[in-house]
Amino acid sequence: MPPDLTRRSILMSGLLFGGALAGVDVVFQTAAARADNAWGSYANGYIPTSALAEIPWSDNGVQLLRSDALVALEDMNAEFVGSFGYNIPINSAYRDYQGQVEARAYWCAQGNCGNAATPGTSNHGWALAVDIGTPSHQTIAFGSTAYLWLKAQASRYGWVHPSWAEPGGAHPEAWHWEYNETYTPAPVAELFESDEMIRISAPNRGIAIIGAGYFRQLQDNEEVSAAESIVSKTLEGNDRQFDLWKSIAISGSSS
Ligand SMILES: [Zn+2]
Repeated sequence: MPPDLTRRSILMSGLLFGGALAGVDVVFQTAAARADNAWGSYANGYIPTSALAEIPWSDNGVQLLRSDALVALEDMNAEFVGSFGYNIPINSAYRDYQGQVEARAYWCAQGNCGNAATPGTSNHGWALAVDIGTPSHQTIAFGSTAYLWLKAQASRYGWVHPSWAEPGGAHPEAWHWEYNETYTPAPVAELFESDEMIRISAPNRGIAIIGAGYFRQLQDNEEVSAAESIVSKTLEGNDRQFDLWKSIAISGSSS
């Protein structure tokens, strides 16, 4: 096997999960304070998509977040699916500057400018916020089962409902949730103890075979049963874990 896979997996974890900034105050933030969420030397709403990660289950167009926020959201989603039977519906995530201008114009036209931040100040522009909807992408309401579930569970994943969005807050929005950079994912297990091949699976990823420097997505039942004869070790996980295992397997080939 390639050397240093264990160390590589640790480095990989650091790449994916590190980079957390200092703790973020989640009370209502002024435009100036929101600039503290800046990262990567980017300006709000001007983050290149190559620096962001795509929410894999979105059925509402491409929705992007910073990768550590996405890891937390994916782990929360795994628990959400267990309770609701569907993925967390994402109405909106990263919003570029022009998108913030449009959102502001949309709400101002309805006489409610406060429902969208001043362009250039939204946490959507830092790729650290999501608007959560119903399965048909209506906004969720205070008192809805999804909102109540999030209020009870989301903070364990570092996703919080800012006080300004609470009932009685400056701009009540049941649907708006922000990542506060406090979530620590479970450590990644050491994958490769030898030259063994491992069968991995996840709900939205199907089944694949990985080894050091090797990844093969299985296409049909015939391939799955053929693989069973040569692979004894099996890992089942959520989509985020599947992607991580794949990354670690493939990255081994370049060392
Ligand atoms: Zn929002």
